[in-house]
Amino acid sequence: MNAFLEVRGAAKAFGGNQVLSDVNLQIAQGEIVGLLGPNGSGKSTLLNLITGFTPADAGSVHFDGAPIERLAAHRIVRTGMARTFQLPSMPTKMSVMEVAMAAATAHHGVWDTLLGTPGARQAEGDARERATHLLHELLLTPVRDLPASALSGGQKKLLGIVCALMARPRMLLLDEPTAGVHPNLRRDIVAALQRLNAQGMTLVIVEHDMHFIREVCTRCVVLDRGEIVASCRPDELARNERVLQAYLGT
Ligand code: ADP
Ligand code: MG
Repeated sequence: MNAFLEVRGAAKAFGGNQVLSDVNLQIAQGEIVGLLGPNGSGKSTLLNLITGFTPADAGSVHFDGAPIERLAAHRIVRTGMARTFQLPSMPTKMSVMEVAMAAATAHHGVWDTLLGTPGARQAEGDARERATHLLHELLLTPVRDLPASALSGGQKKLLGIVCALMARPRMLLLDEPTAGVHPNLRRDIVAALQRLNAQGMTLVIVEHDMHFIREVCTRCVVLDRGEIVASCRPDELARNERVLQAYLGT
């Protein structure tokens, strides 16, 4: 497999708690990989480690052929990898549109913005256009002028995806994008992710919902107590010994 993302020998401990041990993972361009595992198995920590939010104790991460394990999170975003969070936190006063616009500033650096250069005005126009487009794609146009804090949990997840997409990533990692989301919105999220993938986006999705996984994922990777115990098609999960062990705790 020609790896787009390759994690080699990744390890992470918090205090005496070994949360990830010798994680090896390869993801090809165009895949939609479901990252599964019981609560506390290390899924969020693995996303944090890949995207530069948590430093690894050991191991390497290559994205599109280049090592990224020493880069800060905002630099990793510029290489074309973005992520969303399990619990999106929203500023109380900013509107939905402003939050999306602010994501562009965060991605492209604040200096141009502060200096008010012609380049900055151009960038702001571009960001506004892109935010408008993405809010439409993710069904948030009707609420674009509301305070972001007024959104439902599901709408906050959608806005989190918009913010990640402002960086024009080629790979997107999502941490439980449909947990606690109303079924109607969940269908919208599924459709949006499938559209993105059809346009070439590689996706890694932490998810518990089996319907979602069967519908969306091309492959599943299963973590148990910080180790990858299976990599298989969604329809193979139910007869995989190591997967059953992970969930039944035997
Ligand atoms: P998952 O996302 O699979 O539910 P996490 O990666 O969030 O699991 O957590 C895995 C383990 O790491 C848990 O035992 C959790 O308590 C621990 N952990 C995660 N982040 C931290 C942290 N910042 N400090 C200390 N322990 C942490
Ligand atoms: Mg988690």
